[in-house]
Amino acid sequence: AGPLTRLGGGIVRPEVTAAMAEAATASVDMATLQAHASQTIARLTGAEAGCVTSGAAAGLLLATAACVTGLDRARMDKLPDTAGMKNEIVMLRGQRNGYDHAVRAAGIKLVEVGLLDRQAGAGVRGPEAADIAEAITAGTAAVFHVADRFARPALADVVAVAREAGVPVIVDAAARLPPQSNLTRLIADGADLVAFSGGKAIGGPQASGILCGRRDLIMAATLQTLDLDCLPEFWEPPPTLIDKSRLGGLPRQGIGRTCKVGKEEIIGLLTALDLFVAEGDGPRHARWLAEARRLANGIRDHGRVEIAVLGEDDTGEVPVVEIRFPRGAENEAVPLIKALQHGAPPVYVDQTLCYRGIVTFSPVALQPGEAELVARRISSLLRG
Ligand SMILES: *Cc1c(COP(=O)(O)O)cnc(C)c1O
Repeated sequence: AGPLTRLGGGIVRPEVTAAMAEAATASVDMATLQAHASQTIARLTGAEAGCVTSGAAAGLLLATAACVTGLDRARMDKLPDTAGMKNEIVMLRGQRNGYDHAVRAAGIKLVEVGLLDRQAGAGVRGPEAADIAEAITAGTAAVFHVADRFARPALADVVAVAREAGVPVIVDAAARLPPQSNLTRLIADGADLVAFSGGKAIGGPQASGILCGRRDLIMAATLQTLDLDCLPEFWEPPPTLIDKSRLGGLPRQGIGRTCKVGKEEIIGLLTALDLFVAEGDGPRHARWLAEARRLANGIRDHGRVEIAVLGEDDTGEVPVVEIRFPRGAENEAVPLIKALQHGAPPVYVDQTLCYRGIVTFSPVALQPGEAELVARRISSLLRG
């Protein structure tokens, strides 16, 4: 199925585990380590600053908290009580999803906008940027956008109306790599804060992610996740990440202290990120495509299903194998998925299109030899 959190994520490279093991042998001031991470993340994303989070979901909580509190220490201490603060987050109704719980966890009120005529089968229209503009009030802390290349309005249009109203835009780009260009594109399109998963295509530790964006917002976000159990007179944060002179004092443990990130994850993520960027979309795609083809070519289906490799020509996509049951036999997909799960070892696949009779296989979390193993299992199940 690819690097799913539910299944323990993907496989990290030996360089990443080695770096994490080495990091575990040293103690370090975590603010200094995050300041170091900020420089690397800024260089690779084009953002002013960044921090390593314990995942994209954690990044969304921190991003929301940062937009609600700004650099106000008293407000940071009050979250998730947002009474008296800008505490509304505007988002498109059609982008609501399970992960937005992380945004809501900051104590905000979601304001959902946009009608979904297309999804309803009721017409051709969908949400428009004007819907967002009309929902922004004096109480709006941010606009929340879920990155998708087919999203309409597109991010740039969302940014345009938010900028006009002076409101920041938070982007959930958790799974939007590849293409690698998204590391810079969402920031270039004007997003104020972008959250990526570290444990998906980047190949970082399972409990890691990136939050990048505006310097003041990253400062507010980082302050709310760092451990701040320190007497103010001894608190000497690195000025490249935290400008102490802009704060009224030292906040207490923030709302993001619940999703602290360890030195092992920070170093592991930075190592994986360097390797991800160094490999590039082309070679990575070729590596995944070879696995996908091995899987597809290994299936002996006796003509029962259609087998295709999708995304062969687009290096900005993950190539996947699709098995499609013919018209009238769509209901065979669900038992196939169950049978694969019940085998030894269990094989978990992408369930997204199962009710349409389609079973999808991602090459991303496969180890050498596993494509052949999966193909043999599918073959024997189709035969049986
Ligand atoms: C995976 C995912 C998340 C959560 O990412 P983690 O790094 O596991 O916290 C959030 N949003 C979307 C859209 C995702 O696909």
